[in-house]
Amino acid sequence: MISSKVKILGMVILLFIAAGIGLFYWNNSSSKVDPSLNQPVTQTLFKFDTVINLKIYGDDESANHLKKIEQMLDDVDQQINMSNKDSEIHAINEAAGKKAVKVSQGTFDLMKLSVDYAEDTQGAFDPSIGPLVSLWKIGNGGEHVPDANLINQAKSLVNYKDIIMDEANLTIKLAKEGMSLDLGGIGKGYAADLVANYLHDVQVESAIIDLGGSSIIAIGRKPNGEQWRIGLQDPDRARGEQLALIQLDNETIDSSGVYERFFMENGVRYHHILDPKTGFPTKNGLKSVTIIGGTATDADVLSTAVVVMDLEEGMAYMNQKQNVEAMFITEDNRIYLTSGLKGKINLTNERYTLVE
Ligand code: ADP
Ligand code: MG
Repeated sequence: MISSKVKILGMVILLFIAAGIGLFYWNNSSSKVDPSLNQPVTQTLFKFDTVINLKIYGDDESANHLKKIEQMLDDVDQQINMSNKDSEIHAINEAAGKKAVKVSQGTFDLMKLSVDYAEDTQGAFDPSIGPLVSLWKIGNGGEHVPDANLINQAKSLVNYKDIIMDEANLTIKLAKEGMSLDLGGIGKGYAADLVANYLHDVQVESAIIDLGGSSIIAIGRKPNGEQWRIGLQDPDRARGEQLALIQLDNETIDSSGVYERFFMENGVRYHHILDPKTGFPTKNGLKSVTIIGGTATDADVLSTAVVVMDLEEGMAYMNQKQNVEAMFITEDNRIYLTSGLKGKINLTNERYTLVE
């Protein structure tokens, strides 16, 4: 009884947190086509602390697909959710400094990609961020700024170079006791890609996959042929107030921001994207980064990594990437775009200025 109450309360809090974040999908349509065509089969799920919204349009098998997708998401939870005590990542964390743990091919490949990204971003994205995430506990209630000694101690355990991967035996070992993996910065994108791959395989032509309002994949176009309309939430305003409208088809979009999960202490905002170099939440003038293009896994990592870099470094980093674009929002409400996005973002809010 008590535990179910706690669960429901937890759910409400998480839903509340989720309502504060990045992207939302506009369902209003100017279409004069048969309205029944525009009615999707929808499902909302709650998995790995994430509210997941799925909409499939114009497919007789939709209900069946949704069942299969739920099973896939449960499998992802068993693989990579560090707070699931039966997961593979949990087992790796438990064995830190002691032994190598055998994992599934999917988990191994995702960890390999995570470490490659850690190298590519020079540690801005670091999947061994676990000790700092556990110390700060941001988004869990009752948080406060940890003691400097504890921050230094946790920081000394964060280093992707201490993740030992054995490809031949599919094992992963964390070199030091106290190390831990946290895939919160890549897991939603990974799961979104698995769902999208499945929907492509079963030839669904029109669907929206939305994980937590931060990783979205738009498959095809709307059934009436229009592009999908994705609203970018104004971080300072109530849910649903957008600052920009982005129209796209067959595309991935992912946002990370310093306003998603946070607590306030002495007028300072402490949020959930941590700088492995300082051990503190990032504080570099960036409010959020939205990535458009690439796989959802790429976009999820990149949005987090670039928030850790600053505007200048992040812009230079993103400009040398092919087929992936970025939109940066600074604390002073200026919006900067990589070259491929110029002319494609429809600013709908006069509090923000587009810097050409
Ligand atoms: P959201 O989960 O709100 O979509 P992100 O995709 O930016 O936001 O992921 C943030 C999560 O990633 C944090 O909650 C934490 O679990 C993890 N994380 C925080 N800082 C880093 C970092 N520097 N590198 C890798 N993962 C991080
Ligand atoms: Mg992300």
